[in-house]
Amino acid sequence: MKIRVRFAPSPTGYLHVGNARTALFNWLFARQKGGVFILRVEDTDIERSLQEYEEALISALKWLGLDWDEGPDIGGDYGPYRQSERLEIYDEYTKKLLEEGKAYYCFCSPEELEEERKRALAQGRMPKYSGKCRKITLDEALQRIKKGEKAAVRLRTPDVGEIKFNDMVRGEVVFSLEGIGDPVLVRSNGLPSYNYAVVIDDHLMRITHVIRGEDHVSNTPRQLLVYRAFNFKPPNFAHLSMVMGKDNTRLSKRHGATSIEQFREEGYLASALINYLALLGWAPPEGREVLTVEELIELFDLNRVSKSSAIFDYDKLNWINRQHIKRLTSREKAERAYPYLKKAGYLPDKMTSEHWKWLEKAIEGLITNVDRFPQLVKEFSIFFNFSPDDMGQEAKDIIKSEEGREVIKYFYEELSKLNNIDYETFIRIVESIKKKSGFKGKKLYHPLRVALTARASGLELNQFIPLVEEGSQLDFPLKIKNCKERVKEILKYL
Ligand code: GLU
Repeated sequence: MKIRVRFAPSPTGYLHVGNARTALFNWLFARQKGGVFILRVEDTDIERSLQEYEEALISALKWLGLDWDEGPDIGGDYGPYRQSERLEIYDEYTKKLLEEGKAYYCFCSPEELEEERKRALAQGRMPKYSGKCRKITLDEALQRIKKGEKAAVRLRTPDVGEIKFNDMVRGEVVFSLEGIGDPVLVRSNGLPSYNYAVVIDDHLMRITHVIRGEDHVSNTPRQLLVYRAFNFKPPNFAHLSMVMGKDNTRLSKRHGATSIEQFREEGYLASALINYLALLGWAPPEGREVLTVEELIELFDLNRVSKSSAIFDYDKLNWINRQHIKRLTSREKAERAYPYLKKAGYLPDKMTSEHWKWLEKAIEGLITNVDRFPQLVKEFSIFFNFSPDDMGQEAKDIIKSEEGREVIKYFYEELSKLNNIDYETFIRIVESIKKKSGFKGKKLYHPLRVALTARASGLELNQFIPLVEEGSQLDFPLKIKNCKERVKEILKYL
């Protein structure tokens, strides 16, 4: 049998990491098994569903690279794939259940139900629908509706017994029917409830495996009762544990970014996010943690998914992102960094091949300092913002010391005889300063570093010097000053 799975988000918000992980596990499962991955939009909560959110969900999934084989935007053999476009289908099924007496109209008002709920709680009982409207015959109900009364439709369920299913992650799950009242299938506004529409859709769309969040475990017995009423064969279920913050509470804004959009804006690589999401509740064999999407497809195994909750660790995500950055070529790194550096005003709209060459080299020097590309903006200021005015105390102390002053003066004497220098020339100059001053090590190198960068730490000078010298000869919106210009400026601060 062909594997068919679905991701069924409600467009009531942006794609949260928990849901993205659900989408990913479905997708990995389908792609590994040569199955079909379906996107279904569950938008029957009309007050909270927005077109804007549907578009955002689609764009987030596309950015992650989770492509679907059937869905609202591309259609498919089992559509429509938006629940609001399937209302007639649900109506037909409801009629059948009502006629067979498996469902009934319920006229209880929200106030009445609320009363009932409160009473149960006050008496220490689990709130559950009393079954008051079960006795109303279909004819009687239809007449009342004709006269203008509003009614919901409920499923008639047994009062006692239990309902069991075998969850692929959690093993056998058992619910007592005593805790489950007759669930609402259709609300009095005519729209189907989640537990109802989901069953009809999963059945008609031939879903073989329902992989979703653990928050739906308690809905599953209600859905199984609907399957039973229709004589539909239920799919396999796999309920994934929740994604928590480090403090073991549900991941929320308090912990940091939670939506895929936010991670995208913060400059994470989609491949890294996918890699990290896959590790939320799943452990790859042999503890290999840095994996490409192809490797994930090959290795993913629902049987190795843990039922304990997954902890979202931002540090780990950053580490994974760094590992994915490392695997890019210099050109790819440069291309990804470019938009941020251009926006910062460092790079021109039109880049020549010399610009690209320079950028690739500069990135290789600086990339190890960052987790994400946008952070490079700060790192690149070492080239574009030479600002002795903003020097920190440590840098000031270094150049104002007696040794510092002496080293920098000798340095400038040598530089003033030259124009651009290369690293070999720099080393020659350093040797001569060493001879003249008698300083070596920190006493020699620290003042040189501050003289060139106006900072006490940063890029190694063997990387920095060629980059500023080459950069100073290129046309950038903000000119890069060469070594001589830098040291000349520093002289004023000694
Ligand atoms: N619309 C539901 C949700 O977003 C889908 C749950 C399910 O997969 O059955 O939680």
